[in-house]
Amino acid sequence: MSHGAPAIRLPAGSLVLLVGPSGSGKSTFAARHFPRTHVLSSDEMRAIVADDPADQSATDAAFELLHTALALRLARRRTSVVDATNVERWARERLLAVARRSGRPAIAIAMALPVEVCLERNERRSDPRPPGAIRRQHRRLLASLASLPEEGFAAVHVLDSAEAVDAVDVEVG
Ligand code: GDP
Ligand code: MG
Repeated sequence: MSHGAPAIRLPAGSLVLLVGPSGSGKSTFAARHFPRTHVLSSDEMRAIVADDPADQSATDAAFELLHTALALRLARRRTSVVDATNVERWARERLLAVARRSGRPAIAIAMALPVEVCLERNERRSDPRPPGAIRRQHRRLLASLASLPEEGFAAVHVLDSAEAVDAVDVEVG
């Protein structure tokens, strides 16, 4: 597990799991480092099935769509970034299983910023989530940091400050 590494190297055609609470900067990170088509976002999948990225009643359908798209992309060896909180081990296990079936490596990037940063960014966004949900997701993130190294990822990267997020480079291939 590398902390605050200056470069993240990804084998082409890998699964990249972003792990972090709402407000930790997952979507911003994905947009900065990857072409739009590489990114499979749970919010966008909710919007596709329900016209509303925040409609939690669309979550099951959204993840069914996300897993299907992921399997189809990995079968073609297209690098795929899952932009969802992924703070629950069972959610990660389902995604790891898709990668395993496709014979592709999975890499985790944890956005482990302090909860205060996530809460403050959340307050400033146009579509804030309930603060209690962010606190709960953050507790699950902290629990996840202990188990991530033994879950079957080819590499685990932990970005534990805004500075570390700013400094990191992503190299594919
Ligand atoms: P997500 O919920 O994890 O996808 O987080 P977002 O990427 O949507 O970011 C949440 C809010 O924090 C947005 O308003 C972003 O503009 C802001 N944000 C994300 N990353 C950074 C960052 O590195 N620096 C600063 N200052 N703000 C950020
Ligand atoms: Mg997001």
